[in-house]
Amino acid sequence: MNIKKILIANRGEISLRIIRTAREMGIKTVAVYSDADRTALHVRAADEAVCLGPASSSKSYLLADKIINEAKKLQVDAIHPGYGFLSENAEFAKKVQEAGMIFIGPSPESIEIMGNKVAARQAAAKYHIPMVPGTAEAITDIPLAKKKALEIGYPILIKASAGGGGKGMRIVEREEEFESQMQRAISEAESAFGDGSVFIEKYLSSPRHIEIQVLGDQHGDYVHLFERECSIQRRHQKVIEEAPSSVISEEKRHAMGAAAIQVAQACNYYSAGTVEFIVDDNLDFYFLEMNTRLQVEHPVTELITGKDLVKEQILVAEGKPLSFTQGSLAIQGHAIEVRVYAEDPSNNFLPSVGRLNTYRRPQGPGIRVDDGFEEGMEIPIHYDPLIGKLITYHENRQEAIGRMIRAIDEFQVTGVETTLSFCKFVMEHHAFREGRFDTKFIERYFSPQSLETEFEPRELKLLAALGVHLYEQNRSSSSIPNTTAGVGSNWRNRLK
Ligand code: ADP
Repeated sequence: MNIKKILIANRGEISLRIIRTAREMGIKTVAVYSDADRTALHVRAADEAVCLGPASSSKSYLLADKIINEAKKLQVDAIHPGYGFLSENAEFAKKVQEAGMIFIGPSPESIEIMGNKVAARQAAAKYHIPMVPGTAEAITDIPLAKKKALEIGYPILIKASAGGGGKGMRIVEREEEFESQMQRAISEAESAFGDGSVFIEKYLSSPRHIEIQVLGDQHGDYVHLFERECSIQRRHQKVIEEAPSSVISEEKRHAMGAAAIQVAQACNYYSAGTVEFIVDDNLDFYFLEMNTRLQVEHPVTELITGKDLVKEQILVAEGKPLSFTQGSLAIQGHAIEVRVYAEDPSNNFLPSVGRLNTYRRPQGPGIRVDDGFEEGMEIPIHYDPLIGKLITYHENRQEAIGRMIRAIDEFQVTGVETTLSFCKFVMEHHAFREGRFDTKFIERYFSPQSLETEFEPRELKLLAALGVHLYEQNRSSSSIPNTTAGVGSNWRNRLK
């Protein structure tokens, strides 16, 4: 069937990004929005828009039944869930299908299996995919869990089966801490995910996170679109991603790609999906989990392959066979993405919501900005504070990094603090430039002082404070001081 009208059950940059591809394909679009997003760009970009309710996600973007009813009223053929919100909710996918529409994503059964980390490990185990040593099942019996932890060897990681977004994980360094951490992990998992089941995994001290983009059709054919390097993480959440990874050989890429396709086959997957691995110092890889949706970081794969992943998702959802083969895919150039959050990197990345008084995107060759805001708009407090994603593309990694630094310098944002200065710190760091980093990069190298020395040398601050003081003194007295002799020491207070 040909899809003629899509409702995008999401907001912000990803909603806009999906609308753009739909428009290129001649497909009509319906946006949904909350009261807080009335004037949002995705609402303006779509052909039609429906208000779902108040700002809180639980009263708007998470209202599965309401979204489905509105879609039916507007004679929508298919629903694209984007990422986050309802995108990995098997029940929602099922209801969309039961209402006679297409869910642009995998089957509810695939979502169900891969949404549970224990079930996902079990499915992958059938294909002998390498896995971090751990329990094969969820575990609640504390003495038994303790025995298993000893067998695996400390440090270990307790993970929530239903976990996601870097939440629901606890590192246990020593046996003495095991019981208390286990109890905490179970109660946290219960309150965060409504499911207290946890399992145990060996904790690798400083791995890389490398994931494979896969794409399958409804006829059992698969391809992989190479890897994304996502090791620059904060609290187990990705902040900078790139493709390809500078440590992966052609042979390793082939092995990881084949393993990823097997994981997809293990749950009869179709549509775009991501198989995540952690990779140790020897470059041995271990299956972590599969994400059954479009990822935030999908643009880097699009840039190095020349494929539009949203378009492929739509074609697969229509029942079409894959439009290209593995052999026709090749990596061209290098792409890097930085996530631009309204957060203050000099203050523990606290959200910094407010009005974008100045907002000027970088331009020029090899730059893509996927964002959801314009100058003058407010960043709502109710959602993830992602302003957008800045992606650069160039012939090789060093050039892509150089281009990213240029783009960050060109990006002008005032009114809120952003993570751009932090991203520039990473781009300029020798370990990042040399490709020598792992998931501990930020912990190892970054502190708020890193920004001060990089961007606001103390001497500059001193000079600026002195300048302001002289200017004000000049304004309040008619004489112009020609030396700093009469300046006094008060100007130093401006540094505080
Ligand atoms: P989530 O679903 O919450 O994103 P993941 O299982 O994908 O959880 O893991 C998120 C991140 O946590 C990984 O990218 C990695 O940095 C870290 N991590 C997960 N498992 C391990 C492990 N066994 N050892 C070390 N780090 C891990």
